[in-house]
Amino acid sequence: MSKLIIGSHINVSEPDMLLGAVKTALSYGENTFMFYTGAPQNTLRKPISQFKVKEARALMAENGIDINNVVVHAPYIINLANVKDERKFPVTFLQDEIKRVAEIGCKYLVFHPGSHVGKGVEVGLKEEVDNLNLALANDNSKVMILIETMSGKGNELGRNITEIKYLLDNVAKKDRFGVCLDTCHICDSGIEAKDFDQYLVDFDTQIGLDKVHVIHINDSMNPCGSHKDRHENIGFGTLGFDNLINIIYNPRLDGVIKILETPYVNGVAPYKKEIEMIRNKKFNPNLKEELKAEAL
Ligand code: ZN
Ligand code: FE
Ligand code: FE
Repeated sequence: MSKLIIGSHINVSEPDMLLGAVKTALSYGENTFMFYTGAPQNTLRKPISQFKVKEARALMAENGIDINNVVVHAPYIINLANVKDERKFPVTFLQDEIKRVAEIGCKYLVFHPGSHVGKGVEVGLKEEVDNLNLALANDNSKVMILIETMSGKGNELGRNITEIKYLLDNVAKKDRFGVCLDTCHICDSGIEAKDFDQYLVDFDTQIGLDKVHVIHINDSMNPCGSHKDRHENIGFGTLGFDNLINIIYNPRLDGVIKILETPYVNGVAPYKKEIEMIRNKKFNPNLKEELKAEAL
């Protein structure tokens, strides 16, 4: 097994922007991290010239963080499966986002396939492919778009291997696409933790595990098949600590970047303690109490 590549979602905020994010990630004992180029739930974005990229990259290099392992997540409100306005805002936003990722120097952009808004899976997937093709038509960067496996909340696309495979098979620039797995979403979509290894076998047969570059490691607040998508702290949910450890250290996912997107506890980030548990392979049942005490 190669060295564990593990980090978490980190906020990029004023004044230190990406440099601040690197400092935070290092303080949690992470050797990578994931960030949004602005708020996840809106499309307001600052120019990359304000991100302190040069300083951030110098600090990464000093501490052995490979920029190729640092992941960007696209805002989850852009829906390429339903583009109504004439200016095609979701498409132009994705084009700009890819430029931002390339300018920062990162390789991976995680992307939610969006919702068919009641038009049906088939129509939604077709429209998604058309818009992804449009977005990438004149893009020659090396940024890879990682389509995330989703829980199937509402009319969400990407709820199973078949839907993900359809997108990967039908986009024009196939080498520009990969997959980001999410343990909470997979569980919520209906795969039991005990069947996860079989899921990976199925994924490998149908798509190929070489397409998987990132996995979001989250526990789930809801039962398997609930289609809810509410993340829980590691070991405190439906998946449980041992199952998540088995996934994290699964040889089939060796070398795949592991990113936590678990919830804060009373405003305190859980990542330092969760990564400690993961590295020690030992559950800390007092995690939430300890974080609550820190909040006081
Ligand atoms: Zn996501
Ligand atoms: Fe995720
Ligand atoms: Fe989620």
